[in-house]
Amino acid sequence: MEINGTLMWYYKICKREVWLMSRNIVPDQKDTNIDIGRFIHETVYSRKKKEIEFGNVKFDVILNAKDELVIGETKKTSKFQEASQMQLLYYLRELKKAGINAKGVLLYPEERKRVEVELTEENILTLEKAEDEIILIIDSEVSPPVTKNKYCRSCGYREYCYA
Ligand code: SF4
Repeated sequence: MEINGTLMWYYKICKREVWLMSRNIVPDQKDTNIDIGRFIHETVYSRKKKEIEFGNVKFDVILNAKDELVIGETKKTSKFQEASQMQLLYYLRELKKAGINAKGVLLYPEERKRVEVELTEENILTLEKAEDEIILIIDSEVSPPVTKNKYCRSCGYREYCYA
């Protein structure tokens, strides 16, 4: 399974989710709380936004300042901010690999909040560490155990984990 921004997001939410996704175990699609649908495909600033596909990466261009590309994502809630930051950092790193320097921004219109995300050397190391761990999780024969956390309530796998 190819590592991508979505998997980075899951990695910050729950290691078990990463493993389940890698096994193509589909989360409960009827679950209206399903996280990935809710938090990754939201579009609010539709007039300003353009979606760009770049390799296995898909992101929104929020604005194109003078000589700086700014990519961003609009989210409903900042509850998952750490995961969203990781996802955006992954996109920024992929752009950097292609020689494109960009900055990121997370937008939370309902909370009137905006969070700048910048790719630093430290962040690149964090991403690399996460990638190594994701590979270990995916390669494992057994899933990480159910670890009750604050995301379980809105997780599409909760029936599976707590049946
Ligand atoms: S229900 Fe909880 S433990 Fe199970 S995959 Fe979802 S977040 Fe992880």
